[in-house]
Amino acid sequence: MVQQGQIDHLLQETGQIMPPAALAEQAYLQDHAAAYQDSMDNPEEFWAEVANELEWFKPWDKVFQWDYPTFQWFVGAKCNITHNALDRHVSNGNKNKAAFIWLGENGEERVYTYGRLSQSVNRFANGLRSLGVKKGDRVVVYMPLSPEGAIAMLACARIGAVHSVVYAGFSVGSLKDRILDAQAKVVITADVGYRRGNEVDLKGICDQAVSDMDLVEHVVVWSRKGAPENPTPKDVDFEQLMADSSIHCPAEEMDSEDPLYILYTSGTTGKPKGVLHVHGGYMVGTYYHFKNFWDVKHNDVFWCMSDIGWVVGHSYIVYAPLVAGATTVFREGAVDYPHPGVFYETVEKYGVNVIFTAPTALRMLMRYGEEYALKYDLTSLRFLTCAGEPLNPEALKWTYEFICGNGKWGHIVDNWWQTETGGPCLATTATMPVKPGRVGKPLPGALMDIVDREGQPITEPDKGGLLVIKRPFPHFYRTVFGDPERYDRDWNTIPGVYLTGDVALRDADGYYMVVGRADDVLNVAGHRIGSAEVESALVSHAAVAEAAVIGKPDDIRGEIIKGFVTLRVGQDPSDEMIDALKLHVRNELGPIAVPAELEFMPVLPKTRSGKIMRRLLKANELGLDPGDITTLEE
Ligand code: AMP
Repeated sequence: MVQQGQIDHLLQETGQIMPPAALAEQAYLQDHAAAYQDSMDNPEEFWAEVANELEWFKPWDKVFQWDYPTFQWFVGAKCNITHNALDRHVSNGNKNKAAFIWLGENGEERVYTYGRLSQSVNRFANGLRSLGVKKGDRVVVYMPLSPEGAIAMLACARIGAVHSVVYAGFSVGSLKDRILDAQAKVVITADVGYRRGNEVDLKGICDQAVSDMDLVEHVVVWSRKGAPENPTPKDVDFEQLMADSSIHCPAEEMDSEDPLYILYTSGTTGKPKGVLHVHGGYMVGTYYHFKNFWDVKHNDVFWCMSDIGWVVGHSYIVYAPLVAGATTVFREGAVDYPHPGVFYETVEKYGVNVIFTAPTALRMLMRYGEEYALKYDLTSLRFLTCAGEPLNPEALKWTYEFICGNGKWGHIVDNWWQTETGGPCLATTATMPVKPGRVGKPLPGALMDIVDREGQPITEPDKGGLLVIKRPFPHFYRTVFGDPERYDRDWNTIPGVYLTGDVALRDADGYYMVVGRADDVLNVAGHRIGSAEVESALVSHAAVAEAAVIGKPDDIRGEIIKGFVTLRVGQDPSDEMIDALKLHVRNELGPIAVPAELEFMPVLPKTRSGKIMRRLLKANELGLDPGDITTLEE
């Protein structure tokens, strides 16, 4: 943990990037400052106005009720998020508009219009009902990134069941823990998932997880390869269940505060927690940001490169784009498979206008070099947004130059959020200058601050501390499922604020820089340095693709920095390279931040959502127990 709560800021970035005029002129959110102020001065009116753009079965009696640390939004209102995601568009002339364009890793393509998606969700919802699933029941979804995965989620919501999606790549133990934690009586899975041409035996993993569990009554299986080889008595065929069910299924009337889903955090630093989101506020808040931050228009094609196993996939593959009536592309498989140009090929082929991706994907593209980017027509791309980890200035600038045509057609910005926040809190919007290395400013609704360990605000520019949220917005999580004490801890470790667990600093213009998780802060000779700054300095060397740094105890300096580096394609490790990298960090940040040790690695350990796991590197280095590593990518 941060001791004094203060972080030194070393990197002196220059070179703001102005948004292209064509992007800024057409943006929905023209005046960020005014909207932000309005959301701070009149939060209830602000969010009620957004909520009024959507349809409710019964209006609210009160907009916001805060009984610290718990709270409610749209108190007394009745709704169902799927009504706004599906029925509203089917009945207002958009029945034949594409809702989903799904791409399989093997080149398969399927398009779901709002009409077709609505029918499919209704069929599957009726199917779940026929299996005895009722409002409030928990259902675990262990599905590949596919329309069927999204349909399973929406069908649960339709009938008021609470889904808990487990990323289809987690092993038996993680799946089992999550089924038990949710006390789920139905699990929905597929026979296989595909990644880099390999089959992942989801059904086999699922069978092992539920084999001795009486709790689970049915396992619904989407069979992609024909009839399953080893059916069990619990198995129900996904397609058959749909075929046997009606296309009509009125949406269950939900209280605005009724649970929509449970989702576990990525667990970069500790044991994952089951974050709970609700129907009403989540629908309103994620929709607001989809429109006003992602700036997706009626005729746009939006590509969200996350997975339904993560919060980004929940909010910005499935729920918000549908609530907004958008057309979303999503694709199963790896960014560089079956060939390193497939990302660009997809943009060109579908005329993608807006992208939501993660730094790990951009660094992967950068690793292969610009030759692939230059082969395709990327001019449809207007706005590329990135979240999940610090966006290294080098990766941002490379993307701006080669994917965005140096601003000739496109633009790239950062945004920060967590599973707990449901949607973005800090971002650079389409009209703000980009400051490489900085996420941006608080978005409307997000009352953020940087404080020391006593909770005192740090007002001095570029002096870092703990990143906190001071007031819950509608799409903020309501509790930790089955562990309300953990929720209380988030709000009461420093009374009065929600502790994000990240450290950040803010410049004189109000731009925030998130320098990493509090647990990853380095402490070198009395200087507290964020891991992100040293990593970004390493990545800014032309030979480096990715970097992670940790602190190692040292008698004299407190800690020394050890760096782990993967190189770009065509670069080889050598002692000269180590010297060159150290010199480079010295030039970028000064002598204090130079890693005492550097090690080359073919890949860095990451969570399955692509976040670097510094905790594991540190445990390995120091011979310590790494703790919970169930979220590690194998
Ligand atoms: P998760 O809840 O699993 O989505 O992880 C959330 C965490 O990811 C945050 O607390 C941050 O540590 C990190 N994160 C997300 N977006 C950013 C960003 N734009 N810059 C830096 N860190 C980020």
